[in-house]
Amino acid sequence: MVVGGGAAGFFAAIACAEAFPEAQVTLLEKSSQFLGKVRISGGGRCNVTHACFDVRELTARYPRGERVLLGACQTFQASDTVAWFETRGVKLKTENDGRMFPTTDSSETIIDCLTRSAHSAGVKALANRGVTHITKEANGVFAVTLATGESLLCDRLLLATGGCRAAAAGELARSLGHALESPVPSLFTFHIDTSWVRELSGVAVGPVAVSVPGTKLREQGPLLMTHWGLSGPVILRLSAWGARALHALNYQFPLHINWLPQDNAEQIAAELDARRAAQPARLVVNTTIASIPGRLWEQLVLASGLPRPTRWAELGRSAQHALLQQLIRTELAVTGKSLNKDEFVTCGGVRLSEVNFKTMESRICPGLYFAGELLDVDGITGGFNFQAAWTTGWIAGQSMAR
Ligand SMILES: Cc1cc2nc3c(=O)[nH]c(=O)nc-3n(C[C@H](O)[C@H](O)[C@H](O)COP(=O)(O)OP(=O)(O)OC[C@H]3O[C@@H](n4cnc5c(N)ncnc54)[C@H](O)[C@@H]3O)c2cc1C
Repeated sequence: MVVGGGAAGFFAAIACAEAFPEAQVTLLEKSSQFLGKVRISGGGRCNVTHACFDVRELTARYPRGERVLLGACQTFQASDTVAWFETRGVKLKTENDGRMFPTTDSSETIIDCLTRSAHSAGVKALANRGVTHITKEANGVFAVTLATGESLLCDRLLLATGGCRAAAAGELARSLGHALESPVPSLFTFHIDTSWVRELSGVAVGPVAVSVPGTKLREQGPLLMTHWGLSGPVILRLSAWGARALHALNYQFPLHINWLPQDNAEQIAAELDARRAAQPARLVVNTTIASIPGRLWEQLVLASGLPRPTRWAELGRSAQHALLQQLIRTELAVTGKSLNKDEFVTCGGVRLSEVNFKTMESRICPGLYFAGELLDVDGITGGFNFQAAWTTGWIAGQSMAR
């Protein structure tokens, strides 16, 4: 019996039913719709996995779960996901940043494939069947009580109920003896009240380097300015690696940005000197350097304290130093966070030391298995969270069949 009709639950149910056709596999979903998150994932396109086929490189993208996934991905990794979908007629394509989507650019393709595969493997998938209570009987059988009042029995049970952001969501695992690492959000964007940042909404820059002073948090990548602050891959990655630390700071902390991380301070100073020599009569605000977008450059020049009418010939040593500092270390105050609408996950969940990742079976309650986001495993953005669901779901399904 599989509790939870999301990515991990479906993958596990299919794996189990295909590996052991005589088994009676039942999947219980509390809502009226299966695979709800798959439908909205990746902006409706479903970023199924990431084109990263080296297990070590792949698992390095998980702020929580890297070590346990290193073993698990030897059994089922991103290339296995690609093959799994391709043998079922779903072709995936890779975008420039490594994200993989169905060639149809529609999450419905993935939903169709999973529901068709479950149906032909004989999985009995039941919607509107929320599980409220589970007990393990003395003979090892699980008694599963549904919100409808029905009671069902099974000898192998998989919990794939998704991220446990609400305390109640982890209750089934807790009732069977498991500890949960406290849930906090991961993959969020930053609120910045500074007016010039918000005025640049829509400007994409990159790659930049961002860091949080006083912590080890630093990341490099493309940045997007928004009408509430900062977003883009570099911010989402920083939020994932810093999910716990930034929660502890109540999402209020200083952020440093180096807009030109490929150059060192001497190279940037030389570029500023060259500009002064080549275009002495031009306004500094009007002549950007390197790859900095013109509108951003203008704001950085003003934020460094330089008056708007300053020409390059008038840029004195101390003003140039202030501008250089602004370019390599703009300090902004983060005042809060927003969930990223394209992808978010929960950091926290079932404690990893209590699960055997070779089988996904509980080390505390034999016959009980786990898969997906309910575990204290989460990845950065880019298809890694579904990959964790496929990997753990596949292993759990295979083990339940044995
Ligand atoms: C907006 C959004 C976009 C995303 N896009 C991507 C993406 O493109 N790529 C990527 O890798 N990741 C993406 N993610 C993350 C990804 O969706 C999740 O990591 C993944 O869905 C986890 O799968 P899961 O099966 O563990 O949990 P879920 O998909 O959350 O499924 C759990 C299911 O269990 C059901 N359930 C819960 N409790 C019970 C109960 N008591 N009884 C019965 N059923 C129950 C729930 O209703 C749900 O259907 C996105 C997340 C969001 C929110």
